[in-house]
Amino acid sequence: MPELLDLHFLGEEQLVGTYLLDLDDGLTLVDCGPATTLPVLEKRLGELDLGVADLRHLLLTHIHFDHAGAAGALVAANPRIKVHVSEQGAPHMIDPERLERSARRLYGDMFDLLWGPVTPVPAENIELVGRRVLGLECFPTPGHAVHHVCYMDAEGTLFAGDSVGVRWPPSDYILPATPPPDVDLEAWHTSLDEIERRVPDTLALPHFGLVEEPEEHLKIFRHRLMLWAEIVRRGVSAREFADEASRDIDSQTARFSELTDLLRHSYLGLKRYWSTAAAPS
Ligand SMILES: [Zn+2]
Repeated sequence: MPELLDLHFLGEEQLVGTYLLDLDDGLTLVDCGPATTLPVLEKRLGELDLGVADLRHLLLTHIHFDHAGAAGALVAANPRIKVHVSEQGAPHMIDPERLERSARRLYGDMFDLLWGPVTPVPAENIELVGRRVLGLECFPTPGHAVHHVCYMDAEGTLFAGDSVGVRWPPSDYILPATPPPDVDLEAWHTSLDEIERRVPDTLALPHFGLVEEPEEHLKIFRHRLMLWAEIVRRGVSAREFADEASRDIDSQTARFSELTDLLRHSYLGLKRYWSTAAAPS
């Protein structure tokens, strides 16, 4: 079973996690969290009598800062770490300038507090993912981000990144995360089909934890994603979207959304999706 390390993002429990795998190829993290939680990651590893020096691989589901932000700093601390990432994501790890600029537009003054310094990953540390990576199956899951991939191990644990939504335990309310710039609903449905086709036993969410009823989770997630997309398609304001989308959410989840600005980001991402010419009518 993978070890879930809580990175205590923003000082909160169970907001952002990373999965530690003990593979034949060496100790591996699936997503590493942002640079701001690197000291906590070191502490979590220390509790297992491990350190960054023991890591050999980092598997990235996608390159958003809450998943890959610490990658450059990890490699700087331990140049033996290989960073596995999709072909579309790789250039942004090597040269993160454009990614940073786009994220700064979204996060404004909060960027540094949330994500910390941005460190490029040297090209020689990057490995492009294929269908199999370190014994895990890897497949493209665009939707949340165009470069998103998922990994599935032999036991049927699917490392889902942000492709199947987020939740903040103890609540099990599932929120779609649909931030700009490259939400793609059509691609997302195909990705969900691909996930369902593999009948995962467990979903490993970085936000947050293991989901033991994948079928139910995927059904609810897909339904809510469509619901949110339809609200935005009607041309409502951000405020109206937030009111309508959060009508049935519990107080724990409302606070999660507030902390992460999720509803505003999701509104912006869906609005952008519907406004692009490529969007189906
Ligand atoms: Zn995320």
